Amino acid sequence: MPTKSKKLYCTCYLTLTPDMKAHVKKKLRGHKLHIIDDVLSLDNLDPKTEVLGVFVDSKVTKKIIDSLPKLKQIVAFSTGYNTIDLKAAKRKKIPVCNVPSYGENTVAEFSFGLMLSLTRQLFLGVKRVKEGEFDYHGLRGFDLKGKTIGIIGTGRIGMHLISMLKGFETNIIAYDAYPNKTLEKENDFTYVPLPELLKTSDIISLHVPLFDSTYHMIDKKAIKKMKKGVYIINTARGGLIDSEALVWGLEEGIVGGAGLDVLEGEDLLEDPHKLLSTTCTVKDTRTSLMNNVLIDHKKTIVTPHLAFNTTEAVKRIIDTSIENIIAFSRGESLNDVTAKKKKK
Ligand code: NAD
Repeated sequence: MPTKSKKLYCTCYLTLTPDMKAHVKKKLRGHKLHIIDDVLSLDNLDPKTEVLGVFVDSKVTKKIIDSLPKLKQIVAFSTGYNTIDLKAAKRKKIPVCNVPSYGENTVAEFSFGLMLSLTRQLFLGVKRVKEGEFDYHGLRGFDLKGKTIGIIGTGRIGMHLISMLKGFETNIIAYDAYPNKTLEKENDFTYVPLPELLKTSDIISLHVPLFDSTYHMIDKKAIKKMKKGVYIINTARGGLIDSEALVWGLEEGIVGGAGLDVLEGEDLLEDPHKLLSTTCTVKDTRTSLMNNVLIDHKKTIVTPHLAFNTTEAVKRIIDTSIENIIAFSRGESLNDVTAKKKKK
């Protein structure tokens, strides 16, 4: 550790393979490091914590922030940080640092995988053969070539997906609150207003962060505008889609299928005991019910927040998170989302 660095007490709630654990320990040599193979909760807090490291499955609530008297930095081992109470952190002037980019290709490739699995009925074909039925009848798909693909959010992941889709001779339209005309020109796609995208897309793929302004952006009203048989892909955040409305859309035949790597209230799926706790609300119970309907539905593919999970990407996530901690120990600010202007 360089002499100018301050020694920090780091508690990280992460499940790591032994080689990754060794890698983190080596990189943070000189700091006090405590890796807990569990999700963060009020029951497993370490009051000596100065740096709190969390993955997306841990919720950093105001209560947790207030329960750590020495807390100086929160490090999200992820891009998304909607599970961290930013207001509470800001109020205490605690920087929240994330991994702005760890390979947009990783999530874009997974979104594309969901797209092909749905449109070519791959998931149903595999299931059928495993059940002993070697028969293609009733499993007709559609070509991507010539179809209109609507990308919501032309940031890092959305743009990578656009560049991949170009190779499939698709017609790409996009919606973003902050359209980038240069990207549009260079990548041969067209920005359209959201209602037009909903109306004309054969496939809609979501790539916006979860903000108040994007919460339930796909609700019943939006689904009613969509083309009959549309496929919806969501690898961004579950809260972007109103699950109840999606179930309705699937039942009405408006939505032909959905590929969902994220679900609203996915923490309830990870730990179903939460449904029995006193903090469980009627909304939680309802969300959980809808999630189970979506999981069991014959027109959906639901995966367990898996899109980021490649060997290469995990290494990049860990390395950037470590850099965030090391920079902080030197008094520098790196990837602090509380210092950025919030996009609406
Ligand atoms: P990004 O910040 O590069 O891009 C987000 C885009 O959304 C930007 O172009 C922004 O202008 C746009 N946007 C913001 N608010 C908007 C609004 N109200 N309406 C329309 N557009 C709006 O983000 P990214 O790296 O492309 O990631 C997108 C999302 O993917 C992340 O926020 C995260 O939630 C999710 N993600 C999921 C996984 C996974 O494993 N499933 C992994 C990484 C990221």
